[in-house]
Order: sequence, then structure tokens, then C-alpha cells
Amino acid sequence: MLEQISDTLREDDYEVFDAASGEGALAQFAKVHPDLLILDTALPNMDGFQVCEQLRADPSGENLPILMLTGANDRESVKRAYDAGATDYFAKSTNLALLPHRVRYILRASEVYSELKESQARLSNAERIAHLGNWHLNIETGELQWSAEVYRIFGRLPSETVLTYDYFFSHVHPDDQELVQDAVGRALENGTPFRIEHRVLRADDSVGIVQQLGEVVLGEDGTAIGMDGTIQDVTAQKQAEEKVRNLAYFDPLTGLGNRQLFTERLAEAISQTKRRRSRLGVMFFDLDKFKAVNDTLGHATGDELLRQVGKRLRTCIRETDWIARNEGAELARLGGDEFTVILTDLEKSQDAAVVAERIREQLAEPFLIDGQEVGVSTSIGISIYPNDGQDANTLVTHADVAMYQSKTNGGNQYCYYTASMSEKIKARMDMIDRLRDAVENGYLSLRYQPIVALESGRLVGVEALVRWYDEKLGAVPPAEFIPLAEETGLIMGIGEWVLEQGCRQLVALEKKTGQQLSLSVNLSPFQFSRTDLVSAVFSVLEKTGLEPGNLQLEISEGLIMADIEGSGTVLQTLTEKGITVLVDDFGTGNTSLQGLARLPLNSLKVDRRFVQQIGQSQFHETLITTIIAMARALGLKVVAEGLESEAQLRFMRAQGCQLGQGYLLARPMAVRQLEELLQSGDPTLGSEEQPAATGIAR
Ligand code: C2E
Ligand code: MG
Ligand code: MG
Repeated sequence: MLEQISDTLREDDYEVFDAASGEGALAQFAKVHPDLLILDTALPNMDGFQVCEQLRADPSGENLPILMLTGANDRESVKRAYDAGATDYFAKSTNLALLPHRVRYILRASEVYSELKESQARLSNAERIAHLGNWHLNIETGELQWSAEVYRIFGRLPSETVLTYDYFFSHVHPDDQELVQDAVGRALENGTPFRIEHRVLRADDSVGIVQQLGEVVLGEDGTAIGMDGTIQDVTAQKQAEEKVRNLAYFDPLTGLGNRQLFTERLAEAISQTKRRRSRLGVMFFDLDKFKAVNDTLGHATGDELLRQVGKRLRTCIRETDWIARNEGAELARLGGDEFTVILTDLEKSQDAAVVAERIREQLAEPFLIDGQEVGVSTSIGISIYPNDGQDANTLVTHADVAMYQSKTNGGNQYCYYTASMSEKIKARMDMIDRLRDAVENGYLSLRYQPIVALESGRLVGVEALVRWYDEKLGAVPPAEFIPLAEETGLIMGIGEWVLEQGCRQLVALEKKTGQQLSLSVNLSPFQFSRTDLVSAVFSVLEKTGLEPGNLQLEISEGLIMADIEGSGTVLQTLTEKGITVLVDDFGTGNTSLQGLARLPLNSLKVDRRFVQQIGQSQFHETLITTIIAMARALGLKVVAEGLESEAQLRFMRAQGCQLGQGYLLARPMAVRQLEELLQSGDPTLGSEEQPAATGIAR
């Protein structure tokens, strides 16, 4: 038989090894690792069933296709063969020519089987790597199948569990059971897939977080018969997210909550307050002189100040009676020097003022940084839910508006939001937009106010004054838009334009009339702090062709004195080129004599408010007399500003003031009028707002 079989198979090109006993078969197997084993049931010593069992018990023989040769119609042997782990049987009585076909069939099946095994192993591996398992639920029986990874996710072993839906459900975190039940129920009802995230209880009592996707499996008649799904362990991912969240929610400098946290907490607090039908306050505050601290003492000091402010705020908010009595407050730093507090459960709006006042007082105390006392104060704005807004955004914006009002009022105080503030701010924003537009599109113009030598009445120069006429707002006075321009930085563009336009028009005027006038241009402190001011001025002079000696820069008093050293070098460079510098609005600041003496100045312009007092206030007259005497001693010329009456003119002239400007002499005028004035030998001056009433000093 052995020989016959071997020959038949060899004829079909199989390689055949044989053995005449059970032991021989096992030894042969270990040596050649065949693809298929044909085993007779009846063997000497050890029968075929025993050999088969022994092979199956060994991992290397576990998946070996084994074909048992049985006696004809020996049902008992067939049964025993299968029980022993045989893959198939072949009755010895069968035509041997059929054997190769059977062998081929078994080998093909075995190949398919091992491919399946391999792909299952790959799937399982992939699932393990992705922490993603799959499951199947039989709806009728409630039986559940899990892939290996699902067991791992739950921390269970396949051997210790009988899987049912109920078993799974009992290992869902109790707080999430409703969510799971709902999702599964809805999927079954509507036939739609679901995607949920929930916590599971693991074998070691820890809690994991999983994400599940599930889909209904429909039977042939369209009814739901099962469910397929995946389950992914996202615990580590969630923990990492949580960590990032923490980082994203706190301000590293002060350790206070940041804008993100504040916004979320405020939204929560609002919905709670709404439910309780109670009140809530949002406090927005900002340090009054923080920018100056940063600029003059450096950013490190600025940062330390913010840290200390945060610390002080924390203590003082905790110690506030009102908060101790009530539920609490939440403190955050929004960025820069802006802090916010949420006050929950306000009984009445006024309660917020108690906290605000306490914060104001505490922050007004100086801080000690590196042995140096640094003083700041704070401006606070308060908005109240529900009166001042229904949502977080509106409340914060309105508290900010109120804070701005506190600042405008002089700082170091708190303000409650009122609707009219918003309107003011809106109008202001509108004005800024329009001003920006005007600057960009060249809607500004210049007027020139003549400056006259008081003794001779001769026109010696003009002061360029910027004008803005807006379609909607009408003529906006510079006193109104210059500060806005300074706040927004638009002043840089305006200043440059004024200088260039003034120079250009004056050069053109000189060409037409043959007369030279000096041009006075006002400089904003912000322009003065620009590092390239000097080169900007020179390049304009070069571009337009105005003589440097004909340009006079007017700098407001306070500014020059604030930084004598810095001003000194800039002024020096300017004056070396022949440009003159004048102190504008003299008398309004607190100039030191030393400063006046050390700076390369040309003249002082006595402020209009002093001139106005002539004939009315002995004190001011004495002051003016003193200023002029001092100026003379320092070799400075004096310009009288805002001369409106003959009496004022007489007084100034008698004191020896050399130059003057004012409505009495001439109002600011357009360049065309100035040209006419220069052309007519005996000029009658036009006026800006109304026809001329007076001529140059007679
Ligand atoms: P300022 O430099 O002191 O200019 C003098 C102001 O007094 C001008 O007001 C002028 O029109 C006004 N004035 C002249 N004579 C009289 C008078 O007899 N009576 C009265 N009541 N007022 C008189 P204006 O043009 O409204 O300018 C106001 C301020 O705006 C200026 O004060 C200056 O500080 C600023 N400013 C004007 N133009 C510019 C500019 O181009 N750049 C900068 N940075 N500031 C400018
Ligand atoms: Mg001026
Ligand atoms: Mg002035």
C-alpha cells in the first residue's frame, strides 16, 4: 500500500518521504516538515490516531493537513480520525488513482487556510498597534464577538468571559451608560451608524476612554440582525489632550487663567446665572502706566510687575468681604496688562463696586521690584449680566468700554458700563476709520497762519495748521483728531504729509511772489520719538527744495523736557543744519531753566491761555513779563500766540516780544489767500472762517 501510494503521488510530481511506523513518521516529520501527511490508522506499536494527536499537540504540527487512510466503510475509524485532529480521510478501498486529486484539494484548502490565518494575524497586529478592536453583535441572541484587541482594551482574557451585550454594557462607566444606550437604540431604530466616546471600566479598576463606531447589519428581509463596530482606546490621547488643555488655559507668567479659560468660564457662569435668575458682574481692568514702565524700566521689570500684580490680585480678591460671603470670583489675565474678574451671584449690581474699589486701592500701593518702587494704578470697567449684555462677548466688550471710560476720566478709578459709553466709543471708532481714510486718500489740507514781527508789522513766516474736512463729520478741529491720530499711529503719516506739503507749497509760493517766509510745522511727541525723524526731515527738505533755515519745528513744552538728553541730540543734529526749533505752548508744562539753557532752542511761543489773561490777571501779566525777561537772558526769541485784541498786542509789544500771531493779525488761511496777501503790497488778510476784519498790525 505504502509503495503504491508513493508511486502514484510521485507520478504526479509530488516529493514523497515514507516511514513504516508511527515513530518513524514523527521522526520523518521533524526532519522534512512536509506540506501534507498521509497516515494509515493501523500502524505497528503506535497507531495513526496517536500519531495524529501527538502532532496536533505540537505547535509545528498544529496546522499540518493530515489525511487518514481508513478501512472501507469503517465509520468508527473515520470518527476517531476526526476526533484525533485529522483534516480528512481516504478509504483504502477507494480507487487509488483518485488520491492525487484529494491531495491537491487538501493542499489548496490548506494554503487558503494559512493565508487566512496570516491575514487574521496581520489584522490582529494592526488592531493592537492602533488600539483599535472590532466587534460583532448578534441581535437575536445578544451574543457578542470581540477581536483580541477589544479584550485587551477591557483588560480581559477571552477565557474568563462569556461575551454578551449585557456583559459589555455592565463594563461601561455608569455615567456614560445612558449615552451608549441611546446611541445603540437610535442606530437600531433608524438604521443609521453611530459614533460615540465613552469611558469603560477595565479589569484593574482603572477607567479608560474609548471611541466606538457602530453600524447595523441588515438581514435579507431588511430587518436588523446584527451590529458591526470598532472600538478604539483613546485614553492616552485624551490624557495628552488634557495636558495640552491645561497649558492652553493658563497664563504662564502669572499662573492665572488665560483668555480661553476666562471665556469658557464666563459662558458657564452666564448659563448658571440665567438658571438662577441672578446677576453676574464682569470686571475688566488695565494698569494705567504699564506701557511707561515697560518702556523706561524694561520688559523684565514689566513682567515682574505683572507677576506681582497677579499675586496681589489673587490675595486681595480672596480677602474681599463680598467674595467671602458669596460664592466667588474667577480671575484671569487676558494678555498684556489686562485682567478680568467674574463675580458670580451678585445680589445687586453695587456689590461689584466693593470688589472694584478694593482692587483699585490695593493696586495703587507701589510695588517693590529689584529694590525699586514702581507705582501703577488701575482703571476698572464693570458690566453686569443681564443688564449690560446677554452673552460673554458683549459683557466683556462692555466692561472694556467702561474701563476705557475710567481711563478717559483720569484713571485710578472704576466705572460701570452705560449705553452712552458705547455710542461714544462707536463714534470714536467711526472717526478713526474716517481719519485713516482721509490720510490715505489725501483729504487733509493745510492752512497757514501768518506770523508777524510786532515792531514793524512785517509778515515773516507762517505756521502750518492741518485741517480735516469730513463729509459726515464736517470740519473736525485738530485738537480732536490729533490725539486720535497719536493713539492710532496715524500721526506719523499725517506729520510727514504736513511737513512735505508745507515745504512744497512754500517753495512754490516763493517762486511765484519772490518773497521768502519761514515755515513753522508742529511736531507731535510721537514723531519726535521716532528714530528716523532727522533723516525724514532732511529728505523732505531735499525733495522739496526748502532752505533748512526757513524751517522751524514747533515742539510742545512737556515733550522736550521729558527727555532732555534724548531731545538734546536730536535737536542738535537738526539745528546744525540750520533748522530752528521752537517751544510751543510755553507756560503750560514745567520746564526747568536748566533744560531751556541746555537745549539748542530758537524761540518760545507763549501759550494762548496766558495771552488771553492780559488785562484781566495781574498774575499772568507778571508771568509773561518774567518769561520774556528770561527768554531774553537765554537769547531766545518770544512769539505771542493767540493775539485777539489791541490791548494784548500793545502789552506784548511793550514787553519786547518780537513776534506774534493771532486772529487780530490774521486767521489761518488757504495757500491761495496767502499768495494774494503777498502779492498785494498792502495786504488785508483773509480769514479762515469769516471774511477778514483786521489787517496786519498797524
Ligand atoms: P498750536 O500749535 O498751539 O496752534 C495754534 C492754534 O491756535 C491753532 O489752532 C490756531 O488756529 C489757533 N489760533 C491762532 N490764533 C488764534 C487766536 O487769536 N485765538 C484763538 N482762540 N486761537 C487762535 P488749531 O489749528 O485748531 O490747532 C490746534 C492745535 O493742534 C495746535 O496748537 C497744534 O498743537 C495742533 N496741530 C495743528 N496742526 C498740527 C499739525 O500739523 N501737526 C501736529 N502735530 N499738530 C498740529
Ligand atoms: Mg504750534
Ligand atoms: Mg501753541
